[in-house]
Amino acid sequence: MSLMRVDNFGAGPCALPLEVLEEVAEEFPEYRDTGMTVIEMSHRSADYDAIHTDAMDRARRVAAAPEDFDVLFIQGGATLQFSMIPLNLLDEDMTAGYVVAGAWGKKALADALPLGGYTAWSGESSDYTTMPEPGAVEIAEDTRYLHVTSNETIGGIRMVDLPRTEVPLVNDMSSDYLARPIDWPRHDVVYGGVQKNLAPAGMALVFIRRSAIPERPGLGTYLRYSTHADGDSLANTPPMFQIYLMGKVLAHLETRGGVEGLQTRSHDKSALVYNAIEESDGFYRSPVDPRVRSHTNVVWRLPTEELEKRFVNEATGAGMVGLKGHRSVGGIRASLYAATEIPAVERLVDFMDDFAARHRS
Ligand SMILES: *Cc1c(COP(=O)(O)O)cnc(C)c1O
Repeated sequence: MSLMRVDNFGAGPCALPLEVLEEVAEEFPEYRDTGMTVIEMSHRSADYDAIHTDAMDRARRVAAAPEDFDVLFIQGGATLQFSMIPLNLLDEDMTAGYVVAGAWGKKALADALPLGGYTAWSGESSDYTTMPEPGAVEIAEDTRYLHVTSNETIGGIRMVDLPRTEVPLVNDMSSDYLARPIDWPRHDVVYGGVQKNLAPAGMALVFIRRSAIPERPGLGTYLRYSTHADGDSLANTPPMFQIYLMGKVLAHLETRGGVEGLQTRSHDKSALVYNAIEESDGFYRSPVDPRVRSHTNVVWRLPTEELEKRFVNEATGAGMVGLKGHRSVGGIRASLYAATEIPAVERLVDFMDDFAARHRS
């Protein structure tokens, strides 16, 4: 059977490495000589335990997370973390600052507001096209943590420099997870939904400083970080397929230079697209501050919405899918996650050049 795989520029879920998918296909319906697939095994079995431990060790190794951080696998994606973070980290007399540089920071804040969250910086007045200057973030008294979003997936901007503050950071890295090094001493929590760079949807990969995990007997069992840390993310039945697949994606990433390799590839892929935008004589237009352009989600506009529709339709016809901008901002968005390779981006850029030549008035 010949494969008809498209170039998938979707914002998430997204493409996963073909080598990994083929390996998984080989291990279905029987994983090694166990007589069953991974998703049918007992999560208490030795076979599954090896998969679980391997994924956890690899995540720590690839991210270069220090020993005093726990690695947690938690269901509910990044969105459940928006609740778990303030529920666990905030006492009644504490507050938490939020950098709201886009739609995701805004959602994170919404869940923290009733528990002490406040806006430490907002980019709303500039339509979320830029990030704060490092010294521009305003920290209130009794601030337990400052929440940042390393890459705003919808607006297409990345935080190049972390805010200047003594307060520990909590960082939602969903859309550039492991595509840039992490400054661990500055962080208490680094987290992200895994469905962009690392695995199928349905799980968050959370790194949390062990000393930052409080006892919260008042919270529901699953909502406590201590449940997951004490139980090695096996307190209940974990999302085994996600963990199994993430282990394989991480192994694949390790063979390709780990975080540094992915960082370089992300930079190079996005540079190709930004270059095509810049060299289009104004046919394509990037709405974001050039200093903070995302390396994983490139957004741009065309002269009219009509042409944007046409661009997306023609691209789809040519085997390039997922290019429609988020419904809240419109335009075009190309997401260039880990499994999207340079040749796919080159095809996109060729298409962009050709489309501009045909439609430039
Ligand atoms: C996709 C995304 C989320 C939401 O992740 P879910 O796993 O769907 O909850 C949160 N934050 C950022 C930055 C994202 O890109």
